[in-house]
Amino acid sequence: MQFALFELAGLEQIAALPGLAESDRETLIAVLEEAGRFGSEVLAPINTIGDQQGTRVEEKNVIPADGFGDAYRAFVAAGWQSLPFDPARGGQGLPVLLSTAVNEVWLSSNMAFSLCCMLTLGAVTTIETHANTALKDRYLRKLISGEWTATMDLTEPQAGSDLAAVKTRAERAGGHYLITGQKIYITWGDQNFSENIIHLVLARLPDAPPGIKGISLFLVPKFLVNDGGVIGERNDFYPVSVEHKLGIRGSPTCVMSFGDQGGAVGYLIGKEHNGIGCMFTMMNHARIDVGLQGLGNSERAYRLALAYAKERVQGTAPGQPGRVTIIHHPDVRRMLMLMKAGAEAMRAFAYTTTASLDRAHHDPDLEARAWHETRCALLTPVLKGWCTELGQELCSLGVQVHGGMGFIEETGAAQFLRDVRITNIFEGTTGIQGMDLVGRKVIKDNARALNELIAEMQAVSGQLADLHMEGYATAQGHYLAGIAALTKARDWLLANYTADINAPNAVCFNFLMLMGTVCGAWQMNRAAIIAQAKVAAGADPDGFYRAKLITARFYGEHFTPRVHGYFQALCAGSDSIMALAEDEF
Ligand SMILES: Cc1cc2nc3c(=O)[nH]c(=O)nc-3n(C[C@H](O)[C@H](O)[C@H](O)COP(=O)(O)OP(=O)(O)OC[C@H]3O[C@@H](n4cnc5c(N)ncnc54)[C@H](O)[C@@H]3O)c2cc1C
Repeated sequence: MQFALFELAGLEQIAALPGLAESDRETLIAVLEEAGRFGSEVLAPINTIGDQQGTRVEEKNVIPADGFGDAYRAFVAAGWQSLPFDPARGGQGLPVLLSTAVNEVWLSSNMAFSLCCMLTLGAVTTIETHANTALKDRYLRKLISGEWTATMDLTEPQAGSDLAAVKTRAERAGGHYLITGQKIYITWGDQNFSENIIHLVLARLPDAPPGIKGISLFLVPKFLVNDGGVIGERNDFYPVSVEHKLGIRGSPTCVMSFGDQGGAVGYLIGKEHNGIGCMFTMMNHARIDVGLQGLGNSERAYRLALAYAKERVQGTAPGQPGRVTIIHHPDVRRMLMLMKAGAEAMRAFAYTTTASLDRAHHDPDLEARAWHETRCALLTPVLKGWCTELGQELCSLGVQVHGGMGFIEETGAAQFLRDVRITNIFEGTTGIQGMDLVGRKVIKDNARALNELIAEMQAVSGQLADLHMEGYATAQGHYLAGIAALTKARDWLLANYTADINAPNAVCFNFLMLMGTVCGAWQMNRAAIIAQAKVAAGADPDGFYRAKLITARFYGEHFTPRVHGYFQALCAGSDSIMALAEDEF
């Protein structure tokens, strides 16, 4: 984690940007170590409890699993929620990059718990960016401190991927609005451990134009807050039920009913009918966080599988005396290396992408800010889609390494697989991320931002070629071929999207996975170049950089060649995908 943060993503340089609380390397490391302690001592022990007990609704309140309330209060008391926010409102002014790494710790310790904190992070950014001063003054401090939590309320029974179908109504009522309707699947829509819960709700005004351009965003508090900031009566909405589900059972997924007694009081964020624009701030935030969930679950699944592989004795292995622990079997090694290299590639990719978020806000050069914003916009759907798809594979391998014990709940391996399963569904499925990538970020941009990325990848390839690293030629060759496949995929897309109207959406999954795989290779090769320099200088006393080099080589030999499968499938276009008539299925 420290290698990816400091050496690949440049945390020290980011922390020195204007507007961020200047922190030296020791301080940043101390924060990470303290997070590690909190994650393992407070959050991880209640992960299984949340899974086993789930949550329930009693008298219009959600009751979380045992220990979650105490853990949340300890979380707030330790000041974890305020890490990346403006000191003028009680935040600590630390980089989003550091907060990302800390979030990875929460996620891998207890994903169900961490969802509550992450939604609040996204809501704060949305309110900071779009709300008027009065709303900011009234709500931000308590959200930043964590005394209040927040949710995002988009989904309705008829409006999932398609938010244009949102029906929840908002009526003007003087200085505020009255909200009526039903939302489903609202994560941490209610709980009993924070003083208040602030819902960011999408709803439609009576005179709104149809479709996506007619939706507005409202801040709807569970308890009304008066001018002095004092909490008053309960607002007119409540959780009707919580869903029974495959994973993240410690996180309540609520059906929420708004306005049964005449309308829940809400306050407009941004302008009327511009809710989707505002909500995109929260959704982009959440998409990066969900990408991290793919990583966090994979990392924990790997640690668990590794410990088991070092302990479980089974069979004999070539060249080894007697019965061996299963880590000696090449096929188990293959699985562990896939998990290790996959998680390291995801982390490097996630952190370097998040570093762009900090630069987009704090770089002294305004052009550089705009550049980083575009880079982040290009990579966000890849981070969300690729890390969560890869997370499925790696958590499944975690079960496989355990054999039958992986299928038995006691080991915990199965929970990571169940928990990670939601990540490529919520916050926009992988298909929706692929469409965003191909349609908005590549075709609409005529691949300008993608071309810059490809040029950076090629520069890394040039550096590798200069190094002549021993044993690295195959990985290096696959990397070059991967960049070529991405380039050809770009050309195919730009050449075919007008002639075949189904082409962009038919190929978007393969395009996204191809691009994610090459992005992983790009970062692993950057890591290899740094590691090679350390090894060559004799600055690798504990073998850390040697392991990095081998892991990067493994990624190059075992993950990067996947690009050819994605590319060939992409070139088939939409023909065989669309050829069957509906009744021929
Ligand atoms: C546990 C959980 C927690 C959640 N938390 C929240 C929350 O806090 N707040 C919130 O607002 N929502 C939340 N959601 C909702 C979640 O974001 C949606 O489930 C998700 O966006 C998909 O919508 P859907 O379930 O209606 O599926 P659908 O939109 O019905 O999609 C079904 C399938 O069709 C595909 N599809 C749909 N439209 C298209 C299209 N145009 N092109 C190509 N393919 C398409 C999808 O990719 C998917 O494979 C949560 C859901 C779950 C299960």
